[in-house]
Amino acid sequence: MTVRDFGIGSWTARRARKTPHRTAVVGPGGRFTYAELHERVHRLAHGLRGLGVRRGDRVAYLGPNHHTFLEALFAGGVLGAIVVPLNTRLAAPELAHCLEDSGSEVLIRHGGSVPGAQVRRTIDVGGAGPLGYEALLADSPAAPIDENVALEDPFVIMYTSGTTGRPKGVLLTHGNLTWNAVNVLVDMDLAHDEVTLCAAPLFHTAGLNMTCLPTLLKGGTVVLEPAFDPERALRLVEDLRVTYMFGVPVMFDAMARSASWAGADLSSLRRLACGGAPVPAATISAYLDRGIVFSQGYGMTEASPGVLFLPAQDSAAKAGTAGVPHFFTDVEVVDAAARPVAAGQRGEVMVHGPNVMREYWGRSAETAAAFADGWLRTGDIAVADTDGCISIVDRAKDMFISGGENVSPAEVELALREHPGVADCAVVGVPDATWGEVGKAVVVPAGAPPDGPALLAFLRGRLAGYKVPKSVAFADELPRSPTGKILRNTLREEFR
Ligand code: AMP
Repeated sequence: MTVRDFGIGSWTARRARKTPHRTAVVGPGGRFTYAELHERVHRLAHGLRGLGVRRGDRVAYLGPNHHTFLEALFAGGVLGAIVVPLNTRLAAPELAHCLEDSGSEVLIRHGGSVPGAQVRRTIDVGGAGPLGYEALLADSPAAPIDENVALEDPFVIMYTSGTTGRPKGVLLTHGNLTWNAVNVLVDMDLAHDEVTLCAAPLFHTAGLNMTCLPTLLKGGTVVLEPAFDPERALRLVEDLRVTYMFGVPVMFDAMARSASWAGADLSSLRRLACGGAPVPAATISAYLDRGIVFSQGYGMTEASPGVLFLPAQDSAAKAGTAGVPHFFTDVEVVDAAARPVAAGQRGEVMVHGPNVMREYWGRSAETAAAFADGWLRTGDIAVADTDGCISIVDRAKDMFISGGENVSPAEVELALREHPGVADCAVVGVPDATWGEVGKAVVVPAGAPPDGPALLAFLRGRLAGYKVPKSVAFADELPRSPTGKILRNTLREEFR
């Protein structure tokens, strides 16, 4: 079999040619070899084509980690379509926004419902009838499709809360994700016999791109977990002899605090990668103390996402830092005039490389604002040491991170202002022992102060649970700069 195509959709064909009988995916839906995965991907691609999906069309996927997510991803890639992974934690109006904003015509859904969604067709995983997922595969041929997709073609739109307002779609190409996977393979030494536990959600860039894609490129096995549970994660490490896992800090922290931690056999683990939010020193030492390589990484959806990674050999000596730039990625830490700062000085992280996004989907002004001279402005503040190891120390942007999920205060404030009892409001992230940070709403009431819990209940129907603040305070006015910007630092200090 020859394959002309170099897009990510071609990976299953290339793997089926090289390692057909190796296990590609294990999870709640079963175990599939590379040959089986390849066949299912091409059946789905034919099925999608039969529904009218063509090059450049958007196909959304909504569901927890499952082999059908990966099949949809690769099948979309085969057709040159653009896949839109949706966050299962979003509330109905947020999901409708992502579907509408991306112009998705077809939705593959595994549980969950999207009232008001304007998609033309919905394919149901586990559903009956012709648009049941398995029936669609059974009714479609398995013959290989070769659309000659190129690395510069768009591949996914991943929604992120970014810095301001409603979720924005980050458009990533086949090349962006391929280069990210190469960076991961080079810097983490992933092997052909890797057994990778994917317990972070695949709809998030790190869950997909730091774990599944590099493992599948190399011919290893991905273990899909639909929902993270620390006890179960430890048991899977033992039972399946897991060698690699990526997680956000709260996941590794929960594993180290769980009842099974002390007795768990972790001898199969070769490395752990942790990122997405600041990593507490205690979490790092829990793993290092057991002789497990634990590397912090830093990245963002806009960079596919890997930017910095701490090499295994430095994981103890440089613990607490996010390490050095990935092999094919360049990083500078700059001052307000875009001049590189000296070691020990604070500056904004700027990123350049083949893994960096081309654009925010349909948002040229935001895209232009995200770049300076071709470098991606991250809005994250860092300090490099004299060896070039970089620590992320602060964020210039307003966003806060709760349990590894970005929350844009502006988005929460917008929803809060819809309540008739709210005249003005601000939301800030405050430290929290479990989630790293949680939201705190400061409300200037319109008349008599509304009931705090009722305000939070009002938000719950409109926003994903992780975005809803955990507490409300009332104030007569908000601290603002002379130009009217909310002084979030003042509020953060007040409620720390
Ligand atoms: P996302 O696009 O959801 O991956 O979120 C990216 C943001 O997460 C970055 O811009 C940082 O603010 C934050 N982040 C990622 N990794 C780290 C880290 N190791 N330490 C601190 N913040 C991080």
